Amino acid sequence: LLGCTCSSSDTVERIPYVEALIKQMTIEEKVGQTAQITLDVITKGGGHANYGGLQIDTAQINDALVKYHVGSVLNTAGNRALNVHTWHHLISSIQEVATNDTRLKIPVIYGIDAIHGATYTAEATMFPQQIAQAATWNRDLVYRIAKATALETRASNIPWNFSPVLDLGVDPRWARIWETFGEDTYLISEMGLEAIRGYQGKELNCSTRVAACLKHFIGYSTLASSGKDRTPAEISDISLREYHLPPFQFAVESGAASVMINSGLINGIPVHGSYDIITGLLKNELGFNGLVVTDWADIENLHNRDKVAPSHKEAIRLAFNAGIDMSMIPYNYVQYCEMLVELVKEGAVSMERLDDAVRRILNLKYKLGLFERPFVEPSLDAFSDAHKKIAYMAASEAITLLKNEKEILPLSKGTKILVAGPNANSMRTLNGGWSYSWQGEGVEEFTEDKNTILKAIEMKFGKRNVIHVPGVEYDFNGRTYRDEHNVNIEAAVNAARNVDVIVLCLGENSYTEKPGDLSDLMISENQEKLAIELAKTGKPVILVLNAGRPRLIRRFADDMSAILQTYLCGNYAGDALADILAGDVNPSGKLPYTYPMFSNSLVPYYHKHSEESESPEGVYNYEGGVYHQFSFGHGLSYTSFKYSNLAVSHVEFTNNDELLVSVDVENTGTVEGKEVVMLFASDLYASLAPDVKRLRRFDKIHLYPGETKSVTFSLSANDLSFINAQSKRVTEPGEFALKIANLYKTIKLIE
Ligand code: BGC
Repeated sequence: LLGCTCSSSDTVERIPYVEALIKQMTIEEKVGQTAQITLDVITKGGGHANYGGLQIDTAQINDALVKYHVGSVLNTAGNRALNVHTWHHLISSIQEVATNDTRLKIPVIYGIDAIHGATYTAEATMFPQQIAQAATWNRDLVYRIAKATALETRASNIPWNFSPVLDLGVDPRWARIWETFGEDTYLISEMGLEAIRGYQGKELNCSTRVAACLKHFIGYSTLASSGKDRTPAEISDISLREYHLPPFQFAVESGAASVMINSGLINGIPVHGSYDIITGLLKNELGFNGLVVTDWADIENLHNRDKVAPSHKEAIRLAFNAGIDMSMIPYNYVQYCEMLVELVKEGAVSMERLDDAVRRILNLKYKLGLFERPFVEPSLDAFSDAHKKIAYMAASEAITLLKNEKEILPLSKGTKILVAGPNANSMRTLNGGWSYSWQGEGVEEFTEDKNTILKAIEMKFGKRNVIHVPGVEYDFNGRTYRDEHNVNIEAAVNAARNVDVIVLCLGENSYTEKPGDLSDLMISENQEKLAIELAKTGKPVILVLNAGRPRLIRRFADDMSAILQTYLCGNYAGDALADILAGDVNPSGKLPYTYPMFSNSLVPYYHKHSEESESPEGVYNYEGGVYHQFSFGHGLSYTSFKYSNLAVSHVEFTNNDELLVSVDVENTGTVEGKEVVMLFASDLYASLAPDVKRLRRFDKIHLYPGETKSVTFSLSANDLSFINAQSKRVTEPGEFALKIANLYKTIKLIE
């Protein structure tokens, strides 16, 4: 298969304007279109804090755009956020060279990681990260975040966003869990569709929308042994199709414009060199007609790192013939362009394949309207207060109350509080990576007017009621985070004597990709010690977890009076948390992953029955009795909800029936609140060991005290399907259990 150089189903749209261009292009011009370089290559100057001096390097840009016909640029310069005016200055200069000085006047397509807001724009609002967006279980919020991000990104003159991540966030060891929508295929699929709708809208040729990029196709998040980023995965065809593929499939069907490829290996094969995955699965089987881009330097990696290509040139041949359309080079573009030209001239890459790649690239430029309007005038209108409100609302719906013993929360207004822990006074930890920089360093510079947890608590409860003693602090040492040097647990313990409660903010400092690799999932030793010593004071401890992944807390979780998970909730996380602590907001977030208790039980909620052997409750139970700290979907409220009247339209149904499942939910408490109604289904017997249960539908509803709402879900037999031993999607006749909260119904599929 790897020798085949063409895609079998050529359904890529033919746009007359683009076709006319392709006809005129030389091989060199076509090859240049497939090259993507980083902004660093064509800029110079710019002091560290002041980017006023950052300039286009005339010699370098002429070399790249005019001599080598480079068609795309990505990221920022010096790994830092730039203000809108600087972006305008840079991008208009780039587009002026592309559209005035090159023979065919083709504009550049600029791409960026606007992961939870316009990452590299100084004025941008940072929203909750994807994991926190998933924790809201609120589709509309995910849509509005993406729409706002699109507006701010496009206002920064950038039309292409390397987002959303549709990887399965199922391995809590992985440093990129927080970039995902969590561990469940259905939740990821639903949130992914909202993100794409928000980014792309109906029309890409519009100053408020950006092209989305689904990443990282496919299987990136499965880490066979070490749990570290970009390590090899072993994935069966069955699990690839059962868990990993559906979010991408739905997203492709919804019209997503581009796809980025997984940097890693699956079953020994680097995905960037896999014809079967890129052309076979993505382009032919899923019918993806958009643009496929590599991840960072991943063509060179086929040679340098993965050793499947004995030379750089062979790596280019392999990747290109596998179906790559654009190479994120990002530095060594001269070598790439010259080698790809040679490969085409030698016939090792066909003109048909090259034209297909160029067509996909130019089609996107055309659809984005870049030929008519390669850049827009700078304006700060896009960075509105409405976006800040969305960011706050999303944070307040994401933060998840995991434990609330004796209803210690909410706290009354005059409560005297010790705020402790390394995450108490940091905008960096609230935001995580991809925040005004790659690793999240320097966040403070752009968030001076935003409130850390400490500041927000001081504002809410009165400064005189709040003492701050961190006990443990992070060492800011560039890329990696530690908390080994600034430790004074005794000071925190002493301060606890004078307060009513302790708000202990633990977690992680920010990181992105490999710098976030872990050797141990336990929370750090110093943080654990701080929690244990503070609990010994006898004062109630409210544990606030501010981390990108679930760090293990079993040694002290029982000693905590309340536990809140903030994830990485962005610029308004502190305010939202303070409002929840004070009871001004009723928490409604639910875990989008299983929170493990032990490092040897990293099992998602939809595990197989045999995974339950270590369950204390016995072998089989609908709750999935695997030993975990908190279940997928868990999240408490300040009110209580009662479920009743679970009903189905058919107890027996066929492949053609629409199955309606309804339930009543009542707010039986005294405050208004939001509840996530989740419908799980279990296939009781199947030809492959069935999953214990699977999320099939969810809805988030608001209820006033005493109010009851009826929620109805529609299902078809296909919603109960699975991938069988022949890698086919099937629904087998037989019994299924439907479960909503603590209610069950058994239904039967008949032939
Ligand atoms: C990451 C991608 C990202 C790209 C461009 C890579 O290292 O894996 O997710 O889009 O860099 O910044």
